[in-house]
Parts: sequence; structure tokens; C-alpha cells
Amino acid sequence: MSTLLTNAHVVTMDDAGTEYENGWILFDEGMVKAAGAGPKPEADDVHDLAGAVVTPGLVNTHHHLYQTLTRARAQQADLFSGLGELYPLWARIDAEAEYAAARTGLAELALSGCTTVFDHHYVFPRGREGILEAEVQAAREVGVRIVASRGSMDLGVSDGGLPPDELVEEIDAVLAETERLHGALHEAGPGARVQIAVAPCSPFSVTGRLMEESAALARRLGLVLHTHLAETVEEEAYCHELYGCSPVEYLDRLGWLDRDVWCAHCVHLSDDEVARFGGTGTGVAHCPTSNLRLGAGVAPVRALRDAGVRVGLGVDGSASNERSDLFLEVKQALLVARGRGGGEAMTAREALRLATRGGAEVLRRDDIGSLEAGKQADLAIWRTDGLSLGGADDLVAGLVLAGPHRVDRLVVGGEDVVRGGALVRADEAEIARAHRVQARRFAA
Ligand SMILES: [Zn+2]
Repeated sequence: MSTLLTNAHVVTMDDAGTEYENGWILFDEGMVKAAGAGPKPEADDVHDLAGAVVTPGLVNTHHHLYQTLTRARAQQADLFSGLGELYPLWARIDAEAEYAAARTGLAELALSGCTTVFDHHYVFPRGREGILEAEVQAAREVGVRIVASRGSMDLGVSDGGLPPDELVEEIDAVLAETERLHGALHEAGPGARVQIAVAPCSPFSVTGRLMEESAALARRLGLVLHTHLAETVEEEAYCHELYGCSPVEYLDRLGWLDRDVWCAHCVHLSDDEVARFGGTGTGVAHCPTSNLRLGAGVAPVRALRDAGVRVGLGVDGSASNERSDLFLEVKQALLVARGRGGGEAMTAREALRLATRGGAEVLRRDDIGSLEAGKQADLAIWRTDGLSLGGADDLVAGLVLAGPHRVDRLVVGGEDVVRGGALVRADEAEIARAHRVQARRFAA
């Protein structure tokens, strides 16, 4: 059954940045068929959007959904001291808690306009099974696409790492489990709803050998690779002391700077390292709120984009950004870019592009991120008749600058996930109640 949305401002995010004022968009069988202005095509189902803005669904490129269980902790901490406080609590995670946490974070993301979520899960206490399966189940129920990582840590405190020894795993177990999850859950090709990524946690919690073997496994299976990198000055000092080089040089040595890799944060990069990212095709997940919350600094996004680097946005986990609202990150990305580089450093449309096309490029997905014929019908519809956009004659800039907003309607693969600002397939109040029950087990 074909659906035609009319009387809309359609932001396609195609290469030319085409927008259709008084436009329409047609989708059928889960895919965009056409978008335009002027004469409208026929359709089975026609909706008048009353001047709403239609954008591609947003793509989140960095999160730790389990951290919704431990919000507003370690309130003044930097990264290392905060992790030290939180690791022992996170060691309590199991499939039941992960399911409650994932439903909460995914519901928040969906209501912020996000249709595809990457989640970096790396806490797998020995003997607790089904954690990643629980997260995937939550995504299927809420209705968003998920790229779930089988993350890992194998460098415990007794070997010079940061995490407690009880939270680190053996390399062979990590690799075998990653391969099992790939076989059980990963979908390849356009329209995939569930994918697996390989994501050892960070230079201070993973050995070089696990980094190298993870990359070899991912490349054999055709999966994307992710890790945290160059987030804080403390991490930089740690790498110099332990490895005798910067975090970026360390990753380069391990064969990790490549087109199938993206790294979270990348706040502390030299000019040469920015160029190296551009030259190797390595991507970046920019997480501005998290970086501000931890006092880590501001990533050089203008320089990264000018060097041709793939850049997407991430909310990051709720231990460093309590709110899983990706539209808020669009506004934050604009604000921090201007705080660092002046008023010309980023336009509203560029910020929105990071969260849509940029995110899709970072995840190496060419089936999402823009509204063009043949792409997945993943779209976010934003009302423009409320209090916050009165007086805005440029609706797209107004939307970004007045953000965040609760999305009015969210469509994933042609199916409604949010309608009238409410989840269609899940009950927001029930998710919040169930989450509170689980979160009690994570009290300090
Ligand atoms: Zn993170």
C-alpha cells in the first residue's frame, strides 16, 4: 500500500541538499518512491501534513544503552574517575536489566526522531547470557533499526588497565561470542533491521592483541569496527606512558585507521591526525553533550569535515549524557562548533546533515540517511505549528535552533513507530515503570 504525505517541507539530504517547500513524499513497500513539489502522484493513502517539516530519520552513532540505569552519578567526575566509580555498579548488568535499559533509551531516541541506533555494549560479566539478544529484542519491539556491538574489555587493573579484573574477558571467548552473534543476528544488505558491529572498548581497557584480532575477525565477517578514541587529556597521557605515542598513533599502529572504522569522540587530535583520518577514510562519532558533561573538550568537527572525514552524531551513554535525545545533539553540535570556531563554523543544515547522512556514512549504510528514490522510508515528521517555531520564516533553521523537539511522527521502513508524539508499538509509561524497578538494583 503506497503512502503519500503532502503539504510538507521535505528536507531530502541528497548530495545537492534539495528541499521542497510545499512538497510531498511518496513511499511504498518500505522504500521511498519519489519526493517533489508541484503535481502529486496517486497513492492508496494520502495524509496532509499541514506544513510540517519532513527529514530523514536521525542515525545515532554512539551510545551505551545500559547506562540509563545509572543516570546522574559521578556528577563532577572526569572520565577516568567516573568510570572507576561506575564499573562496580555496571558489573550487576544482566539480560533483564539490559532489556529494561534498552527499551528506555531506544524509546527516548525514537521520540527524538532517531530511526537507527548504534549501541556500544562492552560490559559482559562472566556467566550472564543473553545481554545482546535482550537489546535486539527491545529494538524490535520499539521498532527502530539497531546496530549492536559485541564490545569487549580484556585489560584489567592488575595488567595496567582501568576496569576491575572481574569485568574483563579472555580474548578467545570474546571472538567466539562475536562470531556466534554475527551468525545468529546479523542481517546484511539494504533494509537491515539488526546488524552486529565489533567494538573493543578503548585503549585503556583493551590489549593491543584484542584490538588486532577484533579487526581481523570483523574484516573476515564484513562487519564494521568501532572504539572510543582521544576523548580526554588523561587518555592521551595514559597512551604516551603505556604505548609511547598518542591514541591516534596507537590505533594507526594496530591497523585500525581505515574505511571500515569509526571512533567515538576524537576531541584531542593534532592537525596531522585530522588529515590522517581524512586520508584513511576513518569516521568519527561526535558526542558534544557528553564531552561537555565530562569537561573533556570540544572535537574539531569543522577541521574534520574540511578534511573530508565521515562525521556522525552520538548521544553517548546516560552516565555522561543523561538524555538520549539525538535532536538535542544536532543543536549542541552547532553550538560547540561555533563556540570553538565562531558563527560561521557550522550552519543549521550542516548540523542536521551530520545526524542523518553523516550518521549513515559512519555506519557504512547507503540505504538510509536521505530521502531519495530507492532509500528506506525512514523519516521524521516535525510539527511547525506549536509555540517554538512561531516567527521562524526558515523552518529548517528554526527547527534546529529551537530544538530539541518531540517528533510528531516517526516512520521506519514505511511503518509508524511514533504517531501524534506517542510510541505506536510500545507503552511509554510501562517502559518507564519497568525501568525504575530494574534501576533500583543499580543504586550506589
Ligand atoms: Zn562512549
